[in-house]
Amino acid sequence: MLQSHLFTKTRKEGPKNEVSANANFLIRAGFIHKEMAGVYDYLPLGLRVIENIRNIIREEMNALGCQEVSLSALQDPEIWNKSGRWSDDVVDVWFKTKLKNDVLLGLGATHEEPMVRMVSEHVRSYRDLPLYTYQFQTKFRNELRSKSGIMRGREFLMKDMYSFCRSEAELDAFYDKAALAYKKIFERVGIGDRTYFTFASGGMFSKFSHEFQTVCGAGEDFIYIDEEKRIAVNDEVMQDDILKSLGIERSKLRKEKSIEVGNIFKYGTRYTKELGLNFMDEDGNEQPVINGAYGIGLGRLMGTVVEIFADAKGLVWPEAIAPFKFHLIEIVGGGDTGDSVRKEAIELYDKLNSNGVSVLYDDRDLRAGEKFGDSDLIGIPWRIVVSSKTGTDGPYEVKNRKTGEVKMVTLNEILEL
Ligand code: ATP
Ligand code: MG
Repeated sequence: MLQSHLFTKTRKEGPKNEVSANANFLIRAGFIHKEMAGVYDYLPLGLRVIENIRNIIREEMNALGCQEVSLSALQDPEIWNKSGRWSDDVVDVWFKTKLKNDVLLGLGATHEEPMVRMVSEHVRSYRDLPLYTYQFQTKFRNELRSKSGIMRGREFLMKDMYSFCRSEAELDAFYDKAALAYKKIFERVGIGDRTYFTFASGGMFSKFSHEFQTVCGAGEDFIYIDEEKRIAVNDEVMQDDILKSLGIERSKLRKEKSIEVGNIFKYGTRYTKELGLNFMDEDGNEQPVINGAYGIGLGRLMGTVVEIFADAKGLVWPEAIAPFKFHLIEIVGGGDTGDSVRKEAIELYDKLNSNGVSVLYDDRDLRAGEKFGDSDLIGIPWRIVVSSKTGTDGPYEVKNRKTGEVKMVTLNEILEL
C-alpha cells in the first residue's frame, strides 16, 4: 500500500476525553476512530490487525474441528426468558430495543441461548455429535465503565465457540484440547509468555471456569500466579480450601494486575435442558446434550498487545499481527537525486509485493524526521530506508522497531526476514 493513498493520517494528540493508553496510541496512529465512549471504529490499519488476529483464531478453531457460523445480533426474548437471562437483574449489561409494534428484542451480549436453540433443530441422535460451532460476532454490552479503550467496548467483536458433546467425558477431553488451542493462539499473537491459565469461579457444571489472563499494568483484574506450575487463580477462588484442592501454596503466589483475554466454561446441561437440546443415545434413550462455551475478545486482545509492547515513540506490533511486515521509507533529499531514489524505492516495493511480502510504502513528500516519527508511531516491525546513500539493488538499511537494531541487508536477506 502507498502511504500517500492511506486514508488515515497520524495525529500529534489523541482526543482529550480518552483516558486509555491503547486507544490513544491507536487513534494517533490512525488505526481506530472513536465514535463515543466505549465505541470505536476500525480503520484500514486497525482492521488489518483485527483480520490477522481473526485468521490466527480461525486456523486454531478449524484445527479443533469447529465449524464457522454467524448468528444474528438481534435476540428473541423467548429463549432468554426460558434460560432466565432476559431480566436486567440477572444480566446487567443488556441493550434492548423494540419492534414498531412495541415487541421487545435484545442485542446479543453473548450467544449461548440462540446457538443452543439453533443447534437443537439440527441434532437428533448420537451420530450428529460431537459438534463444535463458532463465530466472530459483534456483541453489545451496556458496560458501566469504559475507561480501557478497545479492551472494554460497549460494542465489540468476540469469537465465541460452543461445544456439544454426548457425555461429560467427551466434554472434558474436548475442553482440554480447546484450552491448548487457546494457549497456542496467545503464543502466536505474541503474548504467550505472560498469559496464564487461571482458575475462576463459575461453569455451572464444573467447579471452575478458566480464564486466560495476561499480566499487564493496564489490567482491571488481579491474579495470583504460581510461576512453577504456570497457572494462576483469580480473586474469586483465592480461598485456602480451594488453593489446597489445586495443590497451590499461598505463600508461593505472586499478585499481578492482568487482563482477561479469554474465558472457557463447562456448562453441562445448563442451557441444553432449558432449551430442549436433546439427543437419542445408542440405547434409544433421550439425553440432554453436554455443552461448553469458549470466548475471546478480538479488540481486547489487540488492545492488550498495544498496552504491553508500545513504547514512548508509539506502537510496536508483533510480526504475526502487524498491519504490514515492512515499512519502506524513501528519503528524497535535495539536489537531483530524487528521481533515482524514487525509482529504486518503487523497484524494491514491487519486488517485495511480488514475493507476497506486505509493505507500507511511505512515498509522501515529507521531511525524513516526520516520516521516521510516523513510522515509529505506526509500529510496523521492520523499517527499510531507501535514500541517495542506497546503492542500486541495495544493500538497504533495515531497522527493527522493537529492538532498534539497524542492519545493512540485501534484497534476499529482506525476503528471508
Ligand atoms: P469482564 O469480566 O472483563 O467484563 P466477561 O467475563 O464478562 O469480561 P465473557 O463474557 O467471559 O467476558 O466474554 C468472553 C471474552 O470476551 C472475554 O474473555 C474478553 O476477552 C472479551 N470481552 C468481554 N467483555 C468485553 C468488552 N466489553 N470489550 C471487549 N472484549 C470483551
Ligand atoms: Mg469472562
